[in-house]
Amino acid sequence: MSPATAAAGGAAHPRTAPQQPDWGDPELLAEVTRTLAGLPPLVTRAECARLTEAVAEVERGRALLLQGGDCAERFRESGPEQVGAKLLQLYGLTAGMRAATGLPAVPVGRLAGQYGKPRSAPYERGADGRPVPAYRGDAVNSPAGDAAARDPDPSRLLRAYACADRVLHEVRGSWRGRDPLERAYVSHEALLLDYEQPLTRRDGTAAYASSAHSVWIGERTRDPGGPHVAFAAGIANTVGVKLGPSITPAQAVRLSRLLNPDGRPGRLVFVVRLGATKVRTLLPEIVGEVTRRGTPVVWLCDPMHGNTVRLGSGPKTRPMEAILEEVVAFVRVLQAQRRHPAGLHLEMTPQDVTECVTAPRPHAGPPALPRYRTACDPRLNAGQAAEVVDRFVRVL
Ligand code: PEP
Ligand code: MN
Repeated sequence: MSPATAAAGGAAHPRTAPQQPDWGDPELLAEVTRTLAGLPPLVTRAECARLTEAVAEVERGRALLLQGGDCAERFRESGPEQVGAKLLQLYGLTAGMRAATGLPAVPVGRLAGQYGKPRSAPYERGADGRPVPAYRGDAVNSPAGDAAARDPDPSRLLRAYACADRVLHEVRGSWRGRDPLERAYVSHEALLLDYEQPLTRRDGTAAYASSAHSVWIGERTRDPGGPHVAFAAGIANTVGVKLGPSITPAQAVRLSRLLNPDGRPGRLVFVVRLGATKVRTLLPEIVGEVTRRGTPVVWLCDPMHGNTVRLGSGPKTRPMEAILEEVVAFVRVLQAQRRHPAGLHLEMTPQDVTECVTAPRPHAGPPALPRYRTACDPRLNAGQAAEVVDRFVRVL
């Protein structure tokens, strides 16, 4: 077992874990993971601890949280201009939340590492309409429409590190003059264990993920007995877990105990993504059971991933009505149980895209999506993101 693997609580070997690419070149992969293990940490333990303190304030009900950014971050968008625009969007939205509620809002980007994507289907439609292996994020393959572009390439893990480092430079530059609670921190899904495990570092007695201030475990990899949860259990960072419709209250309780056994404030965030309908039927019992039998968690609403629809055989989209409905229902369920509805987890971009649709008019035919640019899931554009945040603070 490598030192990094041991540090991360002895997580299973990446090759037996779900949603890992078939890298195809074991020697190159070994060289890449060795290189990653020898590189400086991308974030410091002190920065991670500061984020945990900020999230502890959220847990106490004295602050809100907004996590947001691309579904799939692109390497080519790591420059100062693109990153600056993403940070401005994040800061603008958290400033709005503070103005509307009087509570500070902690900004957390899906940024500087959101380069690995879990996929439900191993194939998707390529440029010529024929099936090609699915795009799995810039850290794995290219979204270009030909089959050759989809071959997983281990050396992309090193590009992921380099791009994350560039992005973090801009993020740190944005901290000047801001209260520690209101500085953007970065986060991504801890999906690719060949990236996360070599970047796990030891600081004193604690191991921490040095790839981001916080990481989350996705809906497809949150098996309480699986290697991703074991990895998250072995690091000191604030961690998130996505909770989709297949979650049971008992599983949620178990995850809270596994990931926050000592009830450390600011350690664990449950990111609820049940969809506009199921959030009403499923969430009350989940919140009730975790409150009674589990350990402390922060409750965040991801109103995106449970509300995805496909237009015929065409692109995926998300209706704004469903997104707004889930936000409202989430807040009401939490408030009914006297829990703090801590905030939102959004897929969003400052670009003027048309990926989520505003009003699917009956009988009007499929809505036009002229500026559909996402490499993976449909994102909110600037106006739509502001509308979702506005609905959240109004219903609070
Ligand atoms: C995502 O956040 O892009 C994602 C894949 O989410 P989930 O794991 O909730 O499906
Ligand atoms: Mn997504």
